[in-house]
Amino acid sequence: MSAPLDRRKTVCVDVGGIKVGGQSPIIVQSMTNTDTADVDSTVAQIAELHRAGSEIVRITVDRNESAAAVPRIKEKLDRLGIDVPIVGDFHYIGHQLLAKHPACAEVLAKYRINPGNVGFKEKKDKQFEAIIKTALRYNKPVRIGVNWGSLDQVLLTRLMDKNALEKKPKPAHSVMREAIIQSAILSAQDAERIGLRHEKIILSAKVSEVQELIAVYTELSRRVDYALHLGLTEAGMGSKGIVASAAALSILLQQGIGDTIRISLTPQLGDDRTCEVKVAQELLQVMGFQTFFPIVAACPGCGRTTSTFFQTLATSIQNRLRESMPVWKKQYPGVANLKVAVMGCIVNGPGESQHADIGISLPGRGENPKAPVFIDGKKKLILHGNFIAEEFQILVHQYIETRFGSASKILEDPFKG
Ligand code: SF4
Repeated sequence: MSAPLDRRKTVCVDVGGIKVGGQSPIIVQSMTNTDTADVDSTVAQIAELHRAGSEIVRITVDRNESAAAVPRIKEKLDRLGIDVPIVGDFHYIGHQLLAKHPACAEVLAKYRINPGNVGFKEKKDKQFEAIIKTALRYNKPVRIGVNWGSLDQVLLTRLMDKNALEKKPKPAHSVMREAIIQSAILSAQDAERIGLRHEKIILSAKVSEVQELIAVYTELSRRVDYALHLGLTEAGMGSKGIVASAAALSILLQQGIGDTIRISLTPQLGDDRTCEVKVAQELLQVMGFQTFFPIVAACPGCGRTTSTFFQTLATSIQNRLRESMPVWKKQYPGVANLKVAVMGCIVNGPGESQHADIGISLPGRGENPKAPVFIDGKKKLILHGNFIAEEFQILVHQYIETRFGSASKILEDPFKG
């Protein structure tokens, strides 16, 4: 894989101990969808998202009950030993909630505000200033998060009117794009005028169309060096949301743009909220930016496969590796780099398995019912019978123990020879 280009130089922002920007690794974040006033559900979901790998979690702070719950949520997380920065998402009445609930203002690691709805008409500047002053009082960073669904209409109208007077007016979508970018930059400049330091500001400018998002962030990163939060807003459900987010973010990340990412998936009913965290991690890993968990290569299967046995085996290996990672990454340093292959027949099975650290080539239709296992590129043994899956799982664990465990430094490699 060719290495991604260098990251654009941005200012590093400390979000509750997590560094965003500068040359820090790209941070994965997520957002809860519980009612923040429901302390237990919110704590449970924050814990779940954090366990899945979310390094920052954002929660909605939409009313007095939610703001009052925030310190209780933090307390409960502390008691559970869950140390993850919590960001408060404020719209319309953020200035009031932060003023009325100082404990909420104190425990949040960052405030997220939207310049399009921080206040309207003559109240806008006053309310924006009140939030920035609260951030100053509690020494918090602020994300100025523009969203084209709630764009500052005064600014947009001003730019549209100006454009209409031009000899060659630009298309409306170009003016809209410029309004999004200007809204983020002008708000950041206002925040700095009020006293917020440059290294306390993160910007985002989210839209829901892939090409627009790429254009907006490319231009934004050309004009400013603030740390940038990337995300395709309202990405959608299922594969569409995943594909759209991955398409947009991968192009930007490859250009070195983006310091923290969130994948805004709409969960399907009954779906796990952590899907957005897994997608973000997988995106960063397949692009070669970071390594979070072992990779399982599996073939798609075809008419040569005799059953869904290999799919079941690949899925169970992948699930086991993922579920074990919170413990294994401490117990087996470097295990995230492990590559496992589970293949369906002799056509590509042995070749792909040889490229993995440990791989198995299952018998396809008409082949002898045996499964060669390859370790470090060499065929080491052949599994037969009804317990191939269980035996291969054991071999994978033994390989991990031997290569990444503390015994690896003192024991002879049992797979050698
Ligand atoms: S490895 Fe075999 S079973 Fe898997 S897709 Fe290729 S030909 Fe089909």
